[in-house]
Amino acid sequence: MSSAVNRYKADLREMFFVLFEQFGFNDIAGKAPYDGWDEETAKSILNETYRFAREVMGPLNSSGDREGCRLVDGSVITPKGFKDAWKKLAEAGIKQVSVPKEFGGQGAPFGLHALIEEITSGSNTAFNMYSGLTWGAAEVIGEFGTEAQKKVFADKMFTQHWAGTMCLTEPQAGSDVGAATTKAAKQPDGTYKITGAKIFISGGDQDLTENIIHLVLARVDGAPPGTKGLSLFIVPKFRVKPDGSLGERNDVDVASIEHKMGINGSATAALSFGDNGNCIGELVGAVEHQGMPQMFRMMNGARIAVGIQGLAVASSSYLNALEYAKDRKQGSNFKFWRDPTKPRVPIIEHADVRRMLLEMKAHVEGIRSLVIKLAMHRDRSVVSQGKDDAQTAYHVGQVDLLTPLVKAYASDESYRLCGLAIQVYGGAGFLKDWPVEQYARDSKIFSIYEGTNHIQAMDLVGRKLGQSGGSNFSAFINDITQFVEKNKADAAYGKVVEQLGAASEAVMQVAMGMLGWSQTPEKAALVPLMANRFLRMMSELAVGWLLLDGAILAEQKLATLAEGDVDRSFYEGKRYSALWYGRNVLPEVELNAKVCVLEDASPVEIPDAAFATS
Ligand SMILES: Cc1cc2nc3c(=O)[nH]c(=O)nc-3n(C[C@H](O)[C@H](O)[C@H](O)COP(=O)(O)OP(=O)(O)OC[C@H]3O[C@@H](n4cnc5c(N)ncnc54)[C@H](O)[C@@H]3O)c2cc1C
Repeated sequence: MSSAVNRYKADLREMFFVLFEQFGFNDIAGKAPYDGWDEETAKSILNETYRFAREVMGPLNSSGDREGCRLVDGSVITPKGFKDAWKKLAEAGIKQVSVPKEFGGQGAPFGLHALIEEITSGSNTAFNMYSGLTWGAAEVIGEFGTEAQKKVFADKMFTQHWAGTMCLTEPQAGSDVGAATTKAAKQPDGTYKITGAKIFISGGDQDLTENIIHLVLARVDGAPPGTKGLSLFIVPKFRVKPDGSLGERNDVDVASIEHKMGINGSATAALSFGDNGNCIGELVGAVEHQGMPQMFRMMNGARIAVGIQGLAVASSSYLNALEYAKDRKQGSNFKFWRDPTKPRVPIIEHADVRRMLLEMKAHVEGIRSLVIKLAMHRDRSVVSQGKDDAQTAYHVGQVDLLTPLVKAYASDESYRLCGLAIQVYGGAGFLKDWPVEQYARDSKIFSIYEGTNHIQAMDLVGRKLGQSGGSNFSAFINDITQFVEKNKADAAYGKVVEQLGAASEAVMQVAMGMLGWSQTPEKAALVPLMANRFLRMMSELAVGWLLLDGAILAEQKLATLAEGDVDRSFYEGKRYSALWYGRNVLPEVELNAKVCVLEDASPVEIPDAAFATS
């Protein structure tokens, strides 16, 4: 099969349900600053994005993976077709839909932006990263930069003339960002000379744009150690004159690019700054030592974006596996499985294949509803800002609390679900002829970059649970408790809603246990030992809740539809997603609480030498 074929699939009907029916896009559309937005416009943008993704980005996904990036004479060459697709993407203006109005964009609500990103990322994860990082970097400059920096840099980045990167990682400073040793020496003219080496820089070089703006974390001479002493610098590949025109090449070199398991069309570069003592950067804004808070602006957005990457790839994996399962014939119905005279059936008729497909469907829909819930909290916080402080604080708090869940749960599940999609295909799924093996390879990185998933879990238990005096977590649990009270007598869903209530109790119990462990020195190691488990429990609780919420809404819609209405099957599908997840995953939350109570510390108790004895 030719590799230049689109294999990306999205379920727009499901996206419309989540955004417009479940999470009330129309509540915020039309209100400042989202005046001018409505459902019809948003739907037509999503339709157009899907068309563009299938026609332009999707066909380059597999070919980009096979060709990869090359380093030739110190410059990166991206795979064939990427340059043209970059131009077409700018012409189509798809990415500019989400750009703030003050930078000439349409200022789309974040809920819509999340779905646009799902489509572009799912159609070609590697290609989409170049614009994703550019946007993140431009937003940081847009928020923290001086007026001149906004004009000179952010404008050009938001219009795709220039790209952006985020440069945190160094060989000795991965998860431990504060160990960075890249230096910045202030010059009499107010600029800084940067020296140091950064590794794993996505889009660190490419041939798509005329300039690349690196945002580099570095330590000004004499600054304190750790993250507190870091400042953020704008370091362009080509120097930029005050009028915005390009000057000479800056002293930034591509030392090498990585050969990776996946996202091969995205160049991952090792960069050296100032090998010749002449790398000039300028501070973002006017104050030193603000590097981490500024970078966190980008990292929080990037963490949500990584969760969306996970959702996007898992969703297309599911939809491709579904199509294959309807087509591939093998075996007969299990009742006659030893009888060779019975007709061969498509594998979708086998119970276990149906189980895998429903497992994928339920997870993908649940994760999407978690992503859009977070996104709509963000939009609601923007709309209520300055009008209702309590509401704003509630919505901002939920965004903070849900961010590690979206990043870690979506990315862990993405890799697992892509594996499940390969299982549906059987041997064919292991071949490069089908898209799922690439999805599985591409998806592994999501649980590693932007802070490994353990870093997310520690952020959840170490910071987010107790944030605002614990009120964000309490509000989250309260919302679920109210849902349980309202729906526990429901004839169709009551039992599963009760299971949700039990899961909620279990999550609270473990949260209290975490607090106890953190205050007891001999048990403190249980916090990092159980943190990932807790993040999973809380994510499953959230996803189970949102699937049930969607299913109950779908039942109300079903009651209004005539027999034979084409939408009936869609809403019926929501019922099965929620019931499957409620019966097969929610009980695991209680089980995991039981595991936590055992307080197993064997991973820290086992002596190093006992891991292996030869
Ligand atoms: C394809 C790719 C693209 C990337 N893009 C970028 C980019 O654009 N910009 C950028 O700056 N970086 C980028 N990175 C780097 C990425 O963010 C790091 O790889 C990641 O943060 C982990 O750091 P590390 O690889 O050094 O692993 P380490 O920090 O060495 O971690 C190894 C393991 O130890 C665990 N660990 C580490 N510290 C602790 C701790 N204190 N407690 C418990 N467990 C711990 C980790 O969870 C992990 O399981 C990219 C990486 C890759 C592979």
